[in-house]
Amino acid sequence: MPPFLFKADRPGEDPIFALNQEARQRQGMARGESIVNATIGVLLDDEGALAILPTAARAMKEVREEDWASYAPISGSPEFLGAVIDDVLAGHSAMRESAIAVATPGGTGAVRHAISTFLEPGQAMLTTSFYWGPYAILADENQRRVVTFEMFDPSSQGGALNVEAFDRAIGEMIASQGRALLVINDPCHNPTGYSMNERDWRAVVESIGRHADRGPVIVLLDAAYAAYSERGVATALRALEPLLGRALLLVAWSASKTFTHYGVRVGALVALLPDANERRRAQAALGYASRGTWSNCNHGGMIAIARLLREPALAAQVARERADLVKLLDERVAKFNELARPKGLRYPPYDGGFFVTVFVDDAFAAAERMRADGVFVVPIPGALRVALCAVPVIAVPRVVDSLAKACAPSNPRPV
Ligand code: PLP
Repeated sequence: MPPFLFKADRPGEDPIFALNQEARQRQGMARGESIVNATIGVLLDDEGALAILPTAARAMKEVREEDWASYAPISGSPEFLGAVIDDVLAGHSAMRESAIAVATPGGTGAVRHAISTFLEPGQAMLTTSFYWGPYAILADENQRRVVTFEMFDPSSQGGALNVEAFDRAIGEMIASQGRALLVINDPCHNPTGYSMNERDWRAVVESIGRHADRGPVIVLLDAAYAAYSERGVATALRALEPLLGRALLLVAWSASKTFTHYGVRVGALVALLPDANERRRAQAALGYASRGTWSNCNHGGMIAIARLLREPALAAQVARERADLVKLLDERVAKFNELARPKGLRYPPYDGGFFVTVFVDDAFAAAERMRADGVFVVPIPGALRVALCAVPVIAVPRVVDSLAKACAPSNPRPV
């Protein structure tokens, strides 16, 4: 037989979904033994059920049959795109006037379009050393690469962004490939839980400003978790605004976490270009990229999300419901912080969001030890990702105890 499969060495299954599967199987088999599954990035309530915003679910049900059934415009329905732009850029009028958007299947699609449209084949995007794994898959699938800079300043014990490393990396990137695409997931970074503060953003923007004079810099703010941080994208946008027109600013927006409707696959890529001609060209290029990948996005989903963003009564109701979910998550975060620091666990400042990572030298062995304990977390090089979004508050002490036990051999210093 001839070798048909050219891409034969690719893993078929996402490792996080595989771990989640294993945890669920053990949960099903174990009966008496309780399993804590802190692997998957969806918000579960304290009873373990998927947390769903009731008003968002109702808006989905109210979509007319013909709107589910019909095609959407390739670049997305105009009401949806306008609503997303307003949602992201409210209060930033210069940015608002420079904005175009294209619909994408979730934030994943937005990251995909940024990589394929603003980098040439063979070129690399730049991101933090801890990053959401699919960035590398999206880059690889599109014949691009990922290069990282060390995310935390080693002298800060994981407590502060390593702006020096960033500055070096972006300089090298522009020198080697003539352009830089920087992808920053903020606030509530996946997997570390870190949210960049004003000082981090100011320093990053100052560095970008310097390097942007030497070659095109594109900044993609991946805002997948913005709805779970009190400041949303405000800190980032305030800092980035002076770069408007000097760097290409992009925002990956997603309805998955924002509206707890992960499966409707609604998202958008917003691009900020003050020049009308550049805007038209970018809009055309992004629409072309859509046509050449998924064609058009979920029509009914866009209609429901546009209503949730635009209709004042619905928007207010869904905001109230979301505030309850944020509170649910914040209680887990507070419990984690209360218990984890005294036990000597090392992790970045964590004040909200779906995940936190605990630093440990041999994460894969540590995760194995935790699994023996019935606690499932995701090992990544140098750390364990703990999805508190999926852990009931009552189980947080068990997770912390198991982390402390599993990390003890390589993590002796209390911080
Ligand atoms: N970016 C990050 C960092 C994520 O963690 C996720 C989802 O887990 C996404 C983007 C995109 O998710 P979706 O495609 O469901 O919007």
